[in-house]
Amino acid sequence: MSEFVRQHGEYVWVKPQNTTSEFAVPFGARIVRTEKTQTLVCDDRNKQFWVPAGDVLKAMHITSQEDVEDMITLGDLQEYTILRNLQNRYAKQLIYTYTGSMLVAINPYQILPIYTNREIQLYRNKSLAELPPHIFAISDNAFQRLQRLKENQCVVISGESGAGKTESTKLILQYLAAISGKHSWIEQQIIEANPIMEAFGNAKTVRNDNSSRFGKYIEIRFTPQGAIQGARIQQYLLEKSRIVFQSRDERNYHIFYCMLAGLSTAERERLKLQEQSPSQYHYLAQGGCFTLPGRGDAKDFADIRAAMKVLSFKPEEVWSILSLLAAILHLGNLRFTATEVANLATAEIDDTPNLQRVAQLLGIPISALNAALTQRTIFVHGEHVTTSLSKEAAIEGRDAFVKSLYDGIFVRIVRRINETINKQVDQPMNSIGVLDIFGFENFDNNSFEQLCINYANENLQQFFVGHIFKMEQDEYQNEHINWQHIEFQDNQQILDLIGMKPMNLMSLIDEESKFPKGTDQTLLEKLHVQHGNRSIYVKGKTTQTSLFGIRHYAGVVMYNPLGFLEKNRDSFSGDLRTLVQRSTNKYLVDIFPHEMPMDTAKKQPTLCVKFRNSLDMLMRTLSQAHPYFIRCIKPNEYKEPKNFDKELCVRQLRYSGMMETARIRRAGYPIRHAYRAFVERYRLLVPPVGPLEQCDCRKLARQICEVALPADSDRQYGKTKLFLRDEDDASLELQRSQLM
Ligand code: ADP
Ligand code: MG
Repeated sequence: MSEFVRQHGEYVWVKPQNTTSEFAVPFGARIVRTEKTQTLVCDDRNKQFWVPAGDVLKAMHITSQEDVEDMITLGDLQEYTILRNLQNRYAKQLIYTYTGSMLVAINPYQILPIYTNREIQLYRNKSLAELPPHIFAISDNAFQRLQRLKENQCVVISGESGAGKTESTKLILQYLAAISGKHSWIEQQIIEANPIMEAFGNAKTVRNDNSSRFGKYIEIRFTPQGAIQGARIQQYLLEKSRIVFQSRDERNYHIFYCMLAGLSTAERERLKLQEQSPSQYHYLAQGGCFTLPGRGDAKDFADIRAAMKVLSFKPEEVWSILSLLAAILHLGNLRFTATEVANLATAEIDDTPNLQRVAQLLGIPISALNAALTQRTIFVHGEHVTTSLSKEAAIEGRDAFVKSLYDGIFVRIVRRINETINKQVDQPMNSIGVLDIFGFENFDNNSFEQLCINYANENLQQFFVGHIFKMEQDEYQNEHINWQHIEFQDNQQILDLIGMKPMNLMSLIDEESKFPKGTDQTLLEKLHVQHGNRSIYVKGKTTQTSLFGIRHYAGVVMYNPLGFLEKNRDSFSGDLRTLVQRSTNKYLVDIFPHEMPMDTAKKQPTLCVKFRNSLDMLMRTLSQAHPYFIRCIKPNEYKEPKNFDKELCVRQLRYSGMMETARIRRAGYPIRHAYRAFVERYRLLVPPVGPLEQCDCRKLARQICEVALPADSDRQYGKTKLFLRDEDDASLELQRSQLM
């Protein structure tokens, strides 16, 4: 569109320069000078540079020139207009922006003075539009709706690791506790549940020093008077691999370090933790990272213990948990030696001190423990046969046990918290739920966990799209515009492929997990055979033949089936299981309840089944509530304030599914103008009219369109706005520029 005669000072969109990145998008700038083949532009940071004239794409809609608090009001809603709006606001330390009732929150990576009592009072009982966007406004709005309409509310928070989901969750809880009145014990208990959950479920990763390694849904229940009555926490998919292995610069779960730093000498002695330094424990040492700047493990431990008291954990219970954690550390230090018996690789534990510690802490006989860690009993032709394990197999078996044990402790702790805060009531009560769960993931190597997480995100995406589709529909209805012909396809197909239709990926994974001869390779073949010719299923090419891929709403993700079956079976040696069920440690027995027959692999629900069940339940809960969405965005990879990495943000906007708002809008009329603003901009296309105050702008707008646009072009005149398609908007711009 280089035929535009650009005026000095005019705001335009310019094609991204010197980049081929798929995340580069047009940027906003102002014209400084126009020459035949090039244009001198000035960007928002007052940098001037030349661009080819043809790279100046189009004039900027007036609503994009400054910034808006609600991006629904952007006349031109696009990826790049959203990005510019967010960036301009972030530069002014305005981290919150709405898109309708959705809140975009950009991590400030600094403490902003916007969460004080003053703000709590300020946002109380206001409507969203009344005050600048804020997470308290969303919280208050949910509370108001709950009170007024007696309906359940939910807040779905998403974003990648480090984007600010967990902090946002805490802010919502803080706000709800503050406004619900009487600062009662139950509020305190709900707030104090958090440090416990974080101690056991959060860890330092390279992306976030306090990264939650599980998803959670917290439901706060209110009395009809609006006081907090109780709460319930549901957790999803704790990352287990971290318990036995950490990547460079990462830590295991906080609780281990806190415990070593915070236990008294006498207590450490009772737990046989002679060494206080985490570097002395294999399970804590692999990442080479032991302390965290700005975090005191010993002080945190005191806080965790205090919180456990508040949540009415009994002292013996706390001690049982600590004993199991200590047992895990000693298990990690067990030395296995490879031996050979009759030409077979076998393993021995020549480490009596550690074995003794573990046996004692787990409350089981040492000889039986030794046997269960180095042998496996199988059932052949109605007989028990014992075989020896190789050193590698023994270590693997130990790690599998430790993972299940820790996961069991975590599940048990969450259950315990719920026993305290989930007070049973006779009458049904309304609630506000907050979902803090990993966003869409696409790493260099994607495994079973990513498939589960991305499946959850597909579900949430469908829920989200359904909601914005409805909001868009409402806008058309409010403007009295015909909506019928707008069609939109959601991601049902992908949901069907992964977990809903017969022969879906998850059921095939399940089937293969139960099949004794199943391997990751046979799984891949089955998946290929079953789904290979579908467009949303991708077969790995040349270098990726061992992978399969899915065309997710946020892009293609290639998955590596290596380890899928093992992870899905989610079990450990039957010998160890039988053994711990005889433990004198009641807490341990409680984690692995009886009733499991010898061959556990077949009977236990697989991870697929467990995850899908809890996800189904979540989706049912969400669909019965009025939703709010918070999209957290990480502005840069360096945890730095005042640093906005545009491409990183675009990627997250795409992964967040937020662009669906724009897509749905494009399915109808992407460009909207308030009548008055429209007439001001395009009045020169018709004979002069008088002062606008005295005109019917709606009528004038119609006249302008009738003169300037083809009679049969697709546009609609709403009550307050004109709705246009892209081509007509461009045509109006062109005509306007030719007259100026
Ligand atoms: P996520 O849960 O999405 O992985 P977190 O909520 O743990 O991310 O946030 C990561 C870090 O970012 C926090 O530890 C905190 O330092 C910072 N942060 C997040 N949100 C805010 C906020 N609203 N104000 C100040 N700092 C924040
Ligand atoms: Mg988190």
